[in-house]
Amino acid sequence: MKPYFMERFGNPSAKQHSFGWDADAAVEKARAEIASWIGAANPSEIIFTGGATESSNMAIRGILETERDTNTGRNHIITSAIEHKSVLATCRELERKGLATLTVVPVAKDGRVDPETIRAAITPQTVLVSIMAANHEVGSIQPLAQIGQLCKSQGVFFHTDAVQALGKTLVHVQEMGIDLLSLSAHKIYGPKGIGALYIRRKDPRVILPTWCCGGGQERGLRSGTLNVPGIVGLAVAARIAQREMKSESMRLITLRDRLWKGLSKRLDNVLCNGGMAHRLPHNLSVCFEGARADTLMMMVKEIAVSAGSACNSENIEPSGVLKALGLTDMQARSTLRFGLGRWTTETEVDYAVDKISDAVVRLRHDSHD
Ligand code: PLP
Repeated sequence: MKPYFMERFGNPSAKQHSFGWDADAAVEKARAEIASWIGAANPSEIIFTGGATESSNMAIRGILETERDTNTGRNHIITSAIEHKSVLATCRELERKGLATLTVVPVAKDGRVDPETIRAAITPQTVLVSIMAANHEVGSIQPLAQIGQLCKSQGVFFHTDAVQALGKTLVHVQEMGIDLLSLSAHKIYGPKGIGALYIRRKDPRVILPTWCCGGGQERGLRSGTLNVPGIVGLAVAARIAQREMKSESMRLITLRDRLWKGLSKRLDNVLCNGGMAHRLPHNLSVCFEGARADTLMMMVKEIAVSAGSACNSENIEPSGVLKALGLTDMQARSTLRFGLGRWTTETEVDYAVDKISDAVVRLRHDSHD
């Protein structure tokens, strides 16, 4: 990325001189790499955005705007109960404003959507199905190919938020019948604040309205000077993720299983949220019955874990994702999410098992006093 902050500082929109051409070449190379990574037929199907939140907003709001028909009532969107807020809150806002009708399909205990619930929810009014590729809290991987095939057979557009899945498990827009896909750089060790939206151009052609008016960049859909260093960084991160995925996934699965075995051996009444069969390699979500996650995190401050709850100091809302999997409020509040990464070691996993097990034992003991 560094040269594009300094000596190669051209603006890709400047078509009149070599500095511009150089930056433009870097952007187009990145676009082609991202397209090939996700199995897109053409690089022009990739639009760079400020991240997956923007991509999903652009996809959902855009499809609704082009497909909505007030005469026939075509305005129905289907999504799942465990989507990231960038999808769920967008859909709910459209519903609240009376622009869309919404069906939120449930998930099973393993955090997966049953494609049959989507089939049952589709009506002639349905314009879009938006189901994430893999979940950010419990790591469940969704049956994308089945959902894609179903949407295709019903003539409904299919959007997926693939932020968590890309680089960890295979996602291929052609093979999986995906029409729109949101991705983000920072979940694959790329820079923050850059992402992309895949927009299918053929079979079927997806038409989105202008998202942002201005200088006409990104096929006129999203005007604004492109973030060249970010785009270059995204493409390099994708290249590395693609190259490492196979070996890295196996390494992460071994570490994750070691973490789970360690915790479940040391502690009673621990629950792994979501199933193991269709789970992202680097994710482990554990409910420590009788131990509050917020207190646990304060006790092991040197370990960077997160709670399965959206918390501020006064008010801890149990996670909607965990509740959708059937956890009680108390179980959701007693859940920690572990994310293993490219540089996590066995020693660190063993350290975490020790520290967290000790903290849980102490906390359970103290709360019985
Ligand atoms: N979707 C999922 C599943 C996520 O985990 C995140 C987290 O950052 C996002 C969307 C939002 O992506 P961004 O921060 O790039 O907007």
